[in-house]
Amino acid sequence: DGLTGLPNQRLFLERVQGAIERTKQQNKYLFAVLFLDLDRFKVVNDSLGHLLGNQLLIEISHRLKSVLRVGDIVARFGGDEFTILLEEIEDISTAIQVAERIKKVLALPFQLNEHRVFTNASIGIALSKVDYEQAAQILRDADVAMYCAKSLGKARYEVFDRKMHEGASLLLELETALRNALLKQEEFRLDYQPIISLITGKLIGFEALIRWHHPERGLISPQDFIPLAEETGMIVSIGQWVLYEACHQMHKWHKQFPSSLPLTISVNFSGKQITQPDVFKEVKHILQETGLKPCSLKLEITETFLMDNFELAITVLSQLAALNVEMHMDDFGTGYSSLNYLHRLPIKTLKIDRSFVNNIGSRGENLEIVRAIVTLAHNLNMSVTAEGIETVEQLAQLKALQCDYGQGYFFLPAMERAEVERLLAA
Ligand code: C2E
Ligand code: CA
Ligand code: CA
Ligand code: CA
Repeated sequence: DGLTGLPNQRLFLERVQGAIERTKQQNKYLFAVLFLDLDRFKVVNDSLGHLLGNQLLIEISHRLKSVLRVGDIVARFGGDEFTILLEEIEDISTAIQVAERIKKVLALPFQLNEHRVFTNASIGIALSKVDYEQAAQILRDADVAMYCAKSLGKARYEVFDRKMHEGASLLLELETALRNALLKQEEFRLDYQPIISLITGKLIGFEALIRWHHPERGLISPQDFIPLAEETGMIVSIGQWVLYEACHQMHKWHKQFPSSLPLTISVNFSGKQITQPDVFKEVKHILQETGLKPCSLKLEITETFLMDNFELAITVLSQLAALNVEMHMDDFGTGYSSLNYLHRLPIKTLKIDRSFVNNIGSRGENLEIVRAIVTLAHNLNMSVTAEGIETVEQLAQLKALQCDYGQGYFFLPAMERAEVERLLAA
């Protein structure tokens, strides 16, 4: 590997193949493969760039080498993935000890120039078995275990077992179904949840929320397939479909139900979509094609994505904002935005995550957090939308805090197109 000087994927697979041959020849010969994937890293300090990523990978390879025994090898598998081969071990506990040590050395911050960077890795461990024939098989199992570690909360390790395999094949099934749905484009639908001005009490627009009607399994929640769509890159095509559909629909409603202040449409925009090279052209094109005015479109981007990709986010968001599309920060409060960053992004609105609104009425803590967010936003000339308002008490508190907009079951849930039309006609 040109960057880290570690062995590359091909070399690693050859070594694993050698270990597989030894298990076949020598009874009791055991080895293990570890699959590491870096969890998103946090930078404490200002801007971060590509260089930093490369430097970090080099530093990480040094630390990984430092925990290995003589004869073990670590390879860079590609991107931010590393693999480790532990030859001739007593039992699984050796591999677990190594994983523990890796967790420890990666938990210490990295000092790169003036930046302090925090990262860690999700680690999957697979132990050799006599029925492994190909290096790729044990690697796949380690990868499955890594994926489990990631979904169980990151910065941890998991040892592969059969049950994981079932989980993985269910996931694979879902992936295939999602691919088909994407091709047919008949199983997706958008629902629309009203957004209300807390100051005037009036409807100002809707958030478009995707629904997937699987022919056999029924309705599948976006929480269950959006993460998979992001992982596999399918979110880019799904997102295009959502954006087109939402803009098209809102343009139709503008003509059908004219009002002095045209309703707006909020669309969830995934991080993967923002990193597409031609995202700006794409959005512009969809607006032209559907005839929707840019000022009627709001794109919601999660806080976590924005902070992890700060420099890129500034560039793309500025382009979109220059078009007159509003940018909103979704799930605000769940990430780690610093004030330093926030004012540099062309963000119009912060959407307070539902979890803060949840017990605002009963618990002092969340009330103070929401108060702080509203004050911060207003000082930065941004407005605030509270999501997940369910009770009249929550609404009263939010109004008292001068929160600008609200959305939640207290007003209305996400509704089908026909229901929206009944609402607008009334
Ligand atoms: P989100 O963007 O935070 O969307 C708000 C979610 O909260 C929606 O769930 C909505 O139905 C739900 N909700 C609204 N009011 C209330 C309330 O008063 N109480 C409670 N408990 N929940 C409420 P939904 O539709 O299941 O969507 C879940 C998530 O899936 C969304 O969270 C968003 O992150 C993602 N998502 C949905 N549609 C899309 C899409 O078209 N593209 C992308 N990239 N993500 C989407
Ligand atoms: Ca990664
Ligand atoms: Ca949203
Ligand atoms: Ca949210």
